[in-house]
Amino acid sequence: MKEKTIDDVTKYVKQVAQKRNWILHPNDDGTLDMLIEGLKDYFNRVGYFNCPCRDSFEDMKSDRDIICPCDYAQPDIDEFGRCYCALYFDPNYAFDSEIEMIPERRPEEKW
Ligand code: SF4
Repeated sequence: MKEKTIDDVTKYVKQVAQKRNWILHPNDDGTLDMLIEGLKDYFNRVGYFNCPCRDSFEDMKSDRDIICPCDYAQPDIDEFGRCYCALYFDPNYAFDSEIEMIPERRPEEKW
């Protein structure tokens, strides 16, 4: 399989954001770069975009719900304005205070 580059992954997350009507982390502190790097590393290791802030079973079937964009992204964006990793945001997110942790929506038995 051809290795993904930072550019490939950047293009991918931009496309996802556009398609889902989300926006990306503003990257004021390098978070976006870090998440893109994480997605790239996972893809090149396990063959799919495992969520960059969650552990992988390195098995697509077990990780299906956390392949980015994960099954939990839309409900988290609806409730908190952002996905668990803070890669994707609601377009109306205020960005006026520090971006805090949100609860893990993935059922514990899947961790
Ligand atoms: S939490 Fe965000 S970055 Fe992680 S898989 Fe879901 S959408 Fe992708």
